[in-house]
Amino acid sequence: MLDVIPRSCSVTYGGLNCRSVPSHIISITLNGEQYMIGTVCSEHFLSLRDGIDHLQDIGRIPKGKVAFQEVRTVATACFLNSNKNSYKI
Ligand SMILES: [Zn+2]
Repeated sequence: MLDVIPRSCSVTYGGLNCRSVPSHIISITLNGEQYMIGTVCSEHFLSLRDGIDHLQDIGRIPKGKVAFQEVRTVATACFLNSNKNSYKI
């Protein structure tokens, strides 16, 4: 499977990286362009969302419109199809 997002939460606390599975992708829109800046797990989501203004004020996160997008697993039919006769070469 192609990994396009980090495997763990981007939050660091007490000098340690959170190793939980991300629940949301954090992105910022600046000058009409959207940039992914990290991911957050369900445990840290509310505190990060509520503290995002402070993080922008102190320069830890760039200024801009912050969005949180829920991480969803997507599987295509080729991964789910267990009928071997349906494969063609
Ligand atoms: Zn976390």
